[in-house]
Amino acid sequence: MALDQSELDLIRSSIRKITEEFDLEYWRRQDASKSYPWDFKDALAEGGWFGILMPEEYGGMGLGLTEAGVVLDELGQRCGFNANSIFQYFVFPPGPVIHHGSDAMKAEFLPKLVSGEEMMCFGVSEPDNGVDTSRLKTFARKEGNRYLVNGRKVWISNALNADRILLLTRTAARDPDRPFDGMTLFLTRLKDKTGVQINRIDKIMRNAVDSNEIVFEDFEVFPDEIVGEEGKGFRCLLDGLNPERIAVAQTCIGLGRGALNLVTQYAKDRIVFDRPIGKNQAVAHPLADSWMRLEAADLMTQKAARLFDEGKPCGPEANTAKYLASDAGFEAADRAMQFHGGYSMATEYHVSRFWMEARHLKIAPISQQMVLNFVSDKVLGLPRSY
Ligand SMILES: Cc1cc2nc3c(=O)[nH]c(=O)nc-3n(C[C@H](O)[C@H](O)[C@H](O)COP(=O)(O)OP(=O)(O)OC[C@H]3O[C@@H](n4cnc5c(N)ncnc54)[C@H](O)[C@@H]3O)c2cc1C
Repeated sequence: MALDQSELDLIRSSIRKITEEFDLEYWRRQDASKSYPWDFKDALAEGGWFGILMPEEYGGMGLGLTEAGVVLDELGQRCGFNANSIFQYFVFPPGPVIHHGSDAMKAEFLPKLVSGEEMMCFGVSEPDNGVDTSRLKTFARKEGNRYLVNGRKVWISNALNADRILLLTRTAARDPDRPFDGMTLFLTRLKDKTGVQINRIDKIMRNAVDSNEIVFEDFEVFPDEIVGEEGKGFRCLLDGLNPERIAVAQTCIGLGRGALNLVTQYAKDRIVFDRPIGKNQAVAHPLADSWMRLEAADLMTQKAARLFDEGKPCGPEANTAKYLASDAGFEAADRAMQFHGGYSMATEYHVSRFWMEARHLKIAPISQQMVLNFVSDKVLGLPRSY
């Protein structure tokens, strides 16, 4: 169901109303104290926002990425990446469960996610294989009516508070001719379970949401926790990649706009040589350029979201949106740093947070280089180099 512009505007104003209670100062405190923003999470849950993409039969709104994009843009601008991440971890990781989970799994889990009663994390990355997911080593070995998981994951965000993890494992050795076969996806409980150790990583940004190394030692999972089919887990995950890229693109646009709003105001207020610094075209033009680049990236992102919502292929558009938006978002934040001068280094001006958050999104969840690889290979048909 696609909404018209007035309905999209209503989503934006509802989210803006929530963010008024959680201003940049709130996020500075949460980030500095590395504390999960439970009151913000509850406010989103009360508004039903965690169900924005969820089918109505599970208590959701049954809307699309176009609508979720408005939420991400608004949260990114007003709060920064911590807020987007809180929202995102309820909305995007469940994608494979919605499309490939069993009826019993969906009926039991999805309504709890929509209400905010349960939280989840997404366990794919590992320390040794980098962006080559086909080489992941965490192995789920079948033993009687259960599997025992052994291995290590890294950077898994939200794991300290998550009730469940969507966990990608190998259940068969890697076959070089079919490297993505033999992987199995489980949706399993994480909280209060044995055989798992979660170690928080000390990182430079988005500290209200934890990112962790997870060590599994004979961690039990069960056949009814498999999402899709055994050995076909990577395929289930693929369905979630384009929406994730589009969502990250919208987040980058929000972060860029947030930083641009701050620096534009600063350029009007800061007087040097008896005039506002924004009167210098060396300051004004890069800001005008960033505004245009963010608008262009937004158009690409909306195109990708619309294609996805219409059920059409959108790989090139989703990847392009992520590439352009993270470039434009970071550039805007970098310019915001430059024109705050020395004050950019003071956390009370907030721009440094936008800057580090936008920088991160050029690396994860997919790096700019891997997007260029995708377009070179899949769109232009150039020979693959790896
Ligand atoms: C804060 C944070 C949160 C995260 N949260 C999660 C999470 O919740 N769940 C999860 O599963 N993962 C998560 N990740 C992991 C994230 O997806 C990876 O860090 C990201 O995919 C990059 O992987 P890597 O660091 O292993 O890079 P590497 O594979 O080591 O690559 C290093 C660099 O080399 C480049 N490179 C490698 N191969 C090629 C090639 N063939 N061509 C061109 N360039 C190449 C890459 O683009 C990159 O720039 C998170 C990461 C961070 C930093």
